[in-house]
Amino acid sequence: MSTLFTKIINREIPASIVYETEKVIAFNDINPQAPVHVLVVPKKEIPTLNDIEAKDCEYLMEMYKAIKEITKDLKIAEDGYRVITNCNSHGGQEVFHLHFHILGGEALGSMVSSK
Ligand code: 5GP
Repeated sequence: MSTLFTKIINREIPASIVYETEKVIAFNDINPQAPVHVLVVPKKEIPTLNDIEAKDCEYLMEMYKAIKEITKDLKIAEDGYRVITNCNSHGGQEVFHLHFHILGGEALGSMVSSK
């Protein structure tokens, strides 16, 4: 069964897409935690950060390229932003399809939230 994010890639579920290439898609998070909250997703179902393999390097490069272009387009590159990947239960991962959260648009404060 395909992941939620593959359903977005395949346009089976709507999303506010801000960037797309052959290997990567990026869209606004449905529950934003900052004024800018974009998810950058490879068009390959890599479940978690633990599952990345050497052959996935092109996807990773494309994801970092996407971050650079999206943050420039959204005019948050200069002030800065945060990129997060949650992994498994302690990381609070909910969707098991690798993704980067780009958070920005304001000063983000402490890196780890209080429990
Ligand atoms: P995780 O917790 O796995 O690192 O992050 C999953 C993210 O996906 C969450 O921030 C959540 O708000 C977002 N999300 C969950 N369902 C949807 C959806 O249907 N559409 C969009 N755009 N984001 C979603």
